[in-house]
Amino acid sequence: MKARTKLHHRVVELAAKLPAPSNEQRVWAFENCLKHIGYRTKKNIISCLSCGHVFKGMQILPTWDCPCCARKLTIEDTRKKKHQQRKIMAFIGVQGEFQVNRYFELNCYQRAGEAPSFSVYEITQQWMTEDGKVTVFGRQRNWTYYHDTFTGGMEIRNWDPRTGKYDILPYKVYPKIKVLPIFKRNGFKRSFYKLTPYEMFFSILRDNRSETLLKANQPDLLNMRVGNQRGRVDRHWDSIKIAIRNGYKVKDAATWLDHLDLLQRFGKDLRNPKYVCSINLALDHRRMIKKREREDRRLALERKKKQIEQEQMEYVRNKGVFFDLVLSAGDITVRVLTSVKEFIEEADRFHHCVYANSYYKKPNSLIFSARVKGRPVETVEVDLGALKVIQSRGVHNRASAYNQQIVNLVNSNIHQIRKRLRKLEQTA
Ligand SMILES: [Zn+2]
Repeated sequence: MKARTKLHHRVVELAAKLPAPSNEQRVWAFENCLKHIGYRTKKNIISCLSCGHVFKGMQILPTWDCPCCARKLTIEDTRKKKHQQRKIMAFIGVQGEFQVNRYFELNCYQRAGEAPSFSVYEITQQWMTEDGKVTVFGRQRNWTYYHDTFTGGMEIRNWDPRTGKYDILPYKVYPKIKVLPIFKRNGFKRSFYKLTPYEMFFSILRDNRSETLLKANQPDLLNMRVGNQRGRVDRHWDSIKIAIRNGYKVKDAATWLDHLDLLQRFGKDLRNPKYVCSINLALDHRRMIKKREREDRRLALERKKKQIEQEQMEYVRNKGVFFDLVLSAGDITVRVLTSVKEFIEEADRFHHCVYANSYYKKPNSLIFSARVKGRPVETVEVDLGALKVIQSRGVHNRASAYNQQIVNLVNSNIHQIRKRLRKLEQTA
């Protein structure tokens, strides 16, 4: 994009004056941003990929100091020869009236037995004014799931913080940092914690609460604030203030905020340092989670109980007219189930679905318990439309030895059911 505005022209003019990375910066990048690796063969021959030296290892160890360059090498047992590393680092500086965050891509091609080829390639500059306005001067970012490359010349690029396209998280920041006085005033010291430079600068510029968290040395809460937990930080701001006042550092903000949510649920005083400044957060939090689980179970049981009560009322209304029906012959007694609880007991006893499939709700179904000498043996279903037994089942839906007798007993008493059905129709 061509420079159009006055601001663009000013940025382009100042960008031309920025120095290329110095030798010192390049060396720092090579030493600190790349992994120093030794490839080890089966014969314990180690190739230092950082200097090209090849030597024999005396023992099999996970790390070795290279006898040539003295770097501590992480050893990889491999037959590979080549290795490639790509990292992004940032320089944080000031140019004219701007905060300038410069991003560099480091590329290193390494091959066992050879000196590495290392390049430092500038990809993006964020030019930030004191009022938080950002101008991006850099290369085109080609950003997909598979690729992330920067191509084309250094130009003014579209900046949209919502897409995060030019908001880059560097692997490391060069330690000599310069910032505009306003950022120092708002609490910036040296560290970006887990934030991108833009996120850090913008949030402490525009958001009082971020500024407060940074100044109070609460980086984990600051991460939550700038990340997608802004609302939760707001919701618990009073507790956060109490933590700060009591010198309590929140190390694991996600757990801590969760914990506050739970404390709130159980009506604890979120302004009481006893709760807010938990000495053993992990333990306290586990306790609260247990408590919540117990509470959830209790509530679920209560809901279930209420539901059964409701269903019981309905069941009595629909089938109560049959409740006095008791049929017996010899040792066998067959009587109508009179409560939902009995459906549950019957289902538990025989492992069938009379309760799970809510037979007590079926308008055309009348369920009996058949017992021999008082011992339950089968559950019987009569279809109130067809007026006959349609199933009679014992354990695991199988018929008992008394099945035929039970079915005969019920079928021979269908008139008693019919009589009650008529009564029901008359009252309806
Ligand atoms: Zn070496």
